[in-house]
Amino acid sequence: MLAADIKVEGVVRLRKGREFAALQGHPWIFSGAVLIDPTTRLSILDGSIVEVQSDDGRPLGLAFYNSRTSIALRLFSTSASAKGRPPGEIISELLTSALILRDRWLPSSLTCRRLVNAEGDRLPGLVVDQYGKHLVVQIGTAGMDLLKPLIKDLLIQNTSADSIYERSDSGSREEEGLNPSIESLHGETPLEVLAEEGSMRLLINIKEGQKTGFFIDQREMRRFVLESSSGKRVLNCFSYTGGFSVAALLGGATRVVSVDSSENAISLCTRNVELNEGTTRHEAKCANAFDYLGGTHERFDLVILDPPAFAKQRGHLKNAMKAYRQINMAGLKLVTPGGMLITSSCSNYVSQSDFEQEILKVAADSGRQVSIAGRHRHAVDHPVAAAHEQGNYLKSLILLVQ
Ligand code: SAH
Repeated sequence: MLAADIKVEGVVRLRKGREFAALQGHPWIFSGAVLIDPTTRLSILDGSIVEVQSDDGRPLGLAFYNSRTSIALRLFSTSASAKGRPPGEIISELLTSALILRDRWLPSSLTCRRLVNAEGDRLPGLVVDQYGKHLVVQIGTAGMDLLKPLIKDLLIQNTSADSIYERSDSGSREEEGLNPSIESLHGETPLEVLAEEGSMRLLINIKEGQKTGFFIDQREMRRFVLESSSGKRVLNCFSYTGGFSVAALLGGATRVVSVDSSENAISLCTRNVELNEGTTRHEAKCANAFDYLGGTHERFDLVILDPPAFAKQRGHLKNAMKAYRQINMAGLKLVTPGGMLITSSCSNYVSQSDFEQEILKVAADSGRQVSIAGRHRHAVDHPVAAAHEQGNYLKSLILLVQ
């Protein structure tokens, strides 16, 4: 696919006064803000690129349009940067800028990193993760799906990747009118890839693991765990393949317990620990974390709770909050006085302030006195667009517990 083949397919106007968020840098425009007459709706294919205008015809930028979703428009350029330029050229430039940004600001030794973070890099619906010489692409929007051939060509031209694998199987695709797409786009992707993050060596299962194979987004927190674990007993709940467990063991933890309900995750966690020579200090448990937390009599200096997104839809919010309350209440009880709790939420629909409020309420109800020793820090390879609170999906609190 040539960048020059990509065209602007139409113009979409907003209702009066609804351009405010877009002008602040928010990449989403909801269907209620869009003024579309039925003829436009019929003539524009979902995923097409359109020019967005205010009600009085002022250009606001270029966006992907989708008539099926509540997010009708996803902006990828402002009017100033779009001016007179073909959209394919803008997309190509955004992708190369994303790659340059990582090379510029991350240590060159770091080859386990996110190369493209969707809206945070102005590329709505596109995630590209790098594990050494292997890339994983995840496409979540109809607009980006139409550009897949271009994205693939650009990644081949601009990286020295041996292979590119597509893992487009996220839940958002159905809403966008897309089927899952899992396939090799370039080269041969091995079933397991050995990635390095600082002193950690980690096996990543790109083809069958969760997300793109690993949770790169917790890198800064792994570093904190590595630096804090000397001489500590650590519980890593919802451990997945043991990123935090390996960090704690390399940091000198005397004992680490990893708990996850997935057999595949626990078996790869065990192998990752072996690879980093921490076996004698590690215990892996394939169990429901809710049961484990409520049932164990062991106490830990550091408890880590990094569960899956409990609220995948807005309607799940109430039950999600109940689940956060339950695991954090149980987790706090297991922390020795002077110990620490690291607690995370990756639910889109739980805001940073709601999460924090809830956790502090749980702490008060638990009778333990806590203070906040830190919050989540995402690194430069996970940028969030200005004004795009929803892009801040991962939030964590580090609590000192008395
Ligand atoms: N902390 C991990 C990522 C966690 S993802 C990391 O840093 O890599 C969430 C994990 O929770 C998944 O591995 C999933 O298998 C596990 N999980 C989901 N529900 C669970 C439950 N009820 N009990 C234990 N583990 C669960």
